[in-house]
Amino acid sequence: MQHFPIFLATAGRRIVLSGGGEAALAKLRLLLKTPARISVFAAKPAPEIAAWAAAGKLELRRQALQAGDLDGTALFYAADEDAAEDARTATLARAAGALVNVVDNLEDSDFITPAIVDRDPVTVAIGTEGAAPVLARVIKADLEARLPVTLGALARIGKGFRKMAEALPLGRPRRDFWADYYFNAGPRAMDHGGEDSVRDRLDALLDDHLARPARPGHVAFVGAGPGDPELLTLKARRALDKADVVIHDRLISPEILELARREAILVDVGKEGFGPSTPQGEIDALIVAHARQGAQVVRLKSGDCTVFGRLDEEIDACDAAGVTWHIVPGITAASASVAAIGQSLTRRGRNSAVRFLTGHDMQGFADHDWAQLARPGEVAAIYMGKKSARFVQGRLLMHGADRATPVTVIENASRPEQRVLATTLDALPADLADAEMHGPALTFLGLAPRAAAAAVPNLQKEFA
Ligand code: SAH
Repeated sequence: MQHFPIFLATAGRRIVLSGGGEAALAKLRLLLKTPARISVFAAKPAPEIAAWAAAGKLELRRQALQAGDLDGTALFYAADEDAAEDARTATLARAAGALVNVVDNLEDSDFITPAIVDRDPVTVAIGTEGAAPVLARVIKADLEARLPVTLGALARIGKGFRKMAEALPLGRPRRDFWADYYFNAGPRAMDHGGEDSVRDRLDALLDDHLARPARPGHVAFVGAGPGDPELLTLKARRALDKADVVIHDRLISPEILELARREAILVDVGKEGFGPSTPQGEIDALIVAHARQGAQVVRLKSGDCTVFGRLDEEIDACDAAGVTWHIVPGITAASASVAAIGQSLTRRGRNSAVRFLTGHDMQGFADHDWAQLARPGEVAAIYMGKKSARFVQGRLLMHGADRATPVTVIENASRPEQRVLATTLDALPADLADAEMHGPALTFLGLAPRAAAAAVPNLQKEFA
């Protein structure tokens, strides 16, 4: 985004334009919709400009712009349609500290004027950074047709009613009220009897909504998958679409958070392996507090929320508070990682069971656990296993594991930065240290990437 769209407050600001022809007229028609103080410098102004000056809508100076003419200018339009004159006036304006637009000259402009759909106070600005003016015109025409002309009036009346609407609880009840107003009751009242009838209708509508029983809050525990937004389930997308509050871990990718409703409150509770994190008790309390206020809460966890996600503690907190909940499963990191290396988690004749382990509390493993894991053909997926690699290696070798047992570490599975480190139990700690993996990584004991998977460009063999 080379040009950042903003809406500029124009009341009391000075906007200066040099030029008196077609280009000047086009810009002035837009500028006159604002309360800005407008000055036009034109030796030969079009009659419309002279008329606007006569009506007191702008100040007209029938002379070429000079250095002293630009005091307090916020925006300047060079609209003489003459390259040399535009360059001269633009230089003067820039020296005076104004932001400059040279009409039809993107390169020399500090800002550009978008195509505008005007339903004041609702304004849609469309820009293509000069890439496709035709496209901007088509989009504008499309929106002009789609947005009722009464939208502006509804918004203006609605704005005056915002304080009153605060009688409704924040969140869903207030949103439902406004949705009803803009898309249902408002337009109907407008059709029926114009703005007065809209104003009359608002009070009754508010009473009607105040009388509705409050919808109880609810928590959806949602698995966000391993990172690729396309690996979200449809149910996860729908839950994000409806959420008032999204409480998420740090591993959740920005592309996925983008899918939440614009107005949703996003809370990062920063739970990530060993890094700084919000204490679990606080997370539980946060979930419950939002749900009790009537919010539809999405508790978004990476992968599948039932795998190493401390889900039960959060569910217990909901149960204790009488808050309803449900679980939306997701694709766990082991599934995405095994896909990345073209293998399957189980295989006839090799392993009929697969273990999901966490590197976090392996210290507590009993001897028989290690003895089982050390057997040939065993497959285990170790989550959060980077730091414990040397410990795991030591225990397994102690229990008789083959040094040549394949081990594969997949970092950032399913994400663009995905990396695969294929190694052996023997070389694991050293290779892992060399690879300097800083993203989330999953370690497979007993699995090597399938040879054919090496052909996938994403699969890096540099550590193999
Ligand atoms: N509930 C999650 C796991 C949470 S524990 C799930 O089902 O996947 C966090 C650990 O998951 C990380 O330390 C890492 O081991 C693993 N992990 C999460 N996303 C990953 C990814 N995209 N690639 C590799 N490992 C990942």
